[in-house]
Amino acid sequence: MAAQMQDVLLKANHVKKYFKGKTRAAGVVKAVDDVSLEIMHGETFGVVGESGCGKSTLGKTLIRLLEPTSGEIYLDGREISGLKGAERKEMHREAQIIFQDPSACLNPRRTVKQILMEPFEIHKMKENTDVEARIKELMHLVGLDEYHLSRYPHELSGGQKQRIGIARALALNPKLVICDEAVSALDVSVQAQVLNLLQELKEKLGLTYFFISHNLNVVYQVSDRVAVMYLGKIVEIAGYAQLYEKRYHPYTEALLSAIPQVNPSERSERIHLEGEVPSPSDPPQGCRFNTRCPKACERCRQEEPELREIEEGHFVACHLYD
Ligand code: SF4
Repeated sequence: MAAQMQDVLLKANHVKKYFKGKTRAAGVVKAVDDVSLEIMHGETFGVVGESGCGKSTLGKTLIRLLEPTSGEIYLDGREISGLKGAERKEMHREAQIIFQDPSACLNPRRTVKQILMEPFEIHKMKENTDVEARIKELMHLVGLDEYHLSRYPHELSGGQKQRIGIARALALNPKLVICDEAVSALDVSVQAQVLNLLQELKEKLGLTYFFISHNLNVVYQVSDRVAVMYLGKIVEIAGYAQLYEKRYHPYTEALLSAIPQVNPSERSERIHLEGEVPSPSDPPQGCRFNTRCPKACERCRQEEPELREIEEGHFVACHLYD
């Protein structure tokens, strides 16, 4: 996938997001634990991992929809981790999110037009913008007709609702869009249409995506680079073609072995991981994957591996490659 990768748009340094457990016994949930990454201008940075691995929390934390527990976040060179009040709100013009379930995030009592008006109301931009014209332009961009503007969300299909979610996210011309399982709730045929739309919009508007999905196949289709997350940590980052060619981390290998291949020469034996994903409030000592890893050794139970660059642009956190 041809990306115009120039400089860094978003940089995260040692970002953590911990939540207090519901009870004292539940302790602290380490949803995101010491994540560092860089997202380049114009790329789609895919993030994949099982449900509960922290990928959605990471996406929301990176754009300050959730407060980071610690760490630094820079957007276009400006530190955004500590922004408060009006400055934080203003930053949200540049970084937006598309949620998984369009039904849950569109107000059922508002028409599509009113929903698309919301970003301009929230950011007090109604006076300085030709909002009517912009809303029509947004409808055109996401492939919907103007007559949909008078419809309520329950009168739209799942795909149409997600197009409205996309239009709302793009209303203020953001630079970065977090796509949080943006196609997971859609039928497979509609998924393909929405993925194509996201790709077209990226090229037309010069967007950068942080694309979160539990489905590695979907992430492969759209991403320039892919990060694999397990239990709050990134365990591997590589270009999508690099990762397809060679994955190093045993967890990535297991994820990839679960993707059905049409070409028999590309089929590999399915790796079934034993055991449940441990609780993020009580992660295993050493490598977090050691309780399920078929290649774990004594060192893996004692020492946490660091994410290291083992080939140009290919980062892995595993003692096998130290
Ligand atoms: Fe497996 Fe050890 Fe590598 Fe962790 S560090 S992925 S347990 S081999």
